[in-house]
Amino acid sequence: MLKIGCHLSSAKGFLAMGREAVKIGANTFQFFTRNPRGAKAKPLDLADVAAYRAFAEGQGFFPILAHAPYTLNACAADEGLRTFARETMLDDLQRLEHIPGSLYNFHPGSHVKQGAEAGIELIAAHLNKILWPEQSTTVLLETMAGKGSEVGRTFEELRAILDRVKQADKLGVCLDTCHVFDGGYDIAQNLDGVLEQFDKIIGLNRLRAIHLNDSMNPLGSHKDRHQKLGEGEIGLKALEQVINHPALCRLPFYLETPNDLEGYGREIAQMKSLYRGA
Ligand code: FE
Ligand code: FE
Ligand code: ZN
Repeated sequence: MLKIGCHLSSAKGFLAMGREAVKIGANTFQFFTRNPRGAKAKPLDLADVAAYRAFAEGQGFFPILAHAPYTLNACAADEGLRTFARETMLDDLQRLEHIPGSLYNFHPGSHVKQGAEAGIELIAAHLNKILWPEQSTTVLLETMAGKGSEVGRTFEELRAILDRVKQADKLGVCLDTCHVFDGGYDIAQNLDGVLEQFDKIIGLNRLRAIHLNDSMNPLGSHKDRHQKLGEGEIGLKALEQVINHPALCRLPFYLETPNDLEGYGREIAQMKSLYRGA
């Protein structure tokens, strides 16, 4: 079965997201843990979480993907900003334990003028402070487009972070199709080659989720502008190969395309019709 969902607004809570997902034919979803620009999270509504868990079990949902606010920067030059990123992510992870077995995705960070090496060290130090042995959530480093000084555009940078984290068994990677294409990996013409590289450098066993997006810009643009599936530079044929690739077809796919709920529903239906897996 294709595991597929899209990014949903968390404003109305978990049960509402679960119902919305079902309405558009999804069996999982992604959401921001808090306002991506703000910091304050509402107190967790435990009754809503319990109602969601019962609902999700009944529907046979796959693990949901919580996305950290993208303004957090684990490798900021300013120590105050790093502390803020750490405290916010730790709070997110503690909350997420109420929904066991979830995924938590974050943008590794922007090194600003410190250089990628320094950025990698800071991100690893950050992770070494917020992961704990008993946690049930898997934390995912997202592959980045390489906009500005983003760390995590290359597979080598992600590998360097993984190598420096003690609790690396809690870590995985979320591959964003728009970002890797924008970062210069040609998944449109050479998906096999890119995945081979991923396997050699990071290991496909680390790959836990896919952000399924088309890209507004051509290969290697470093712009990070998502497009609707089939309307961008990656194209429908390549995205069809992504969802059906033997190394990827069992992973959960999350759409982050510029769509309203109806548009997401259409894309999900289209992906299901192109899926050849059992
Ligand atoms: Fe992201
Ligand atoms: Fe993404
Ligand atoms: Zn993006």
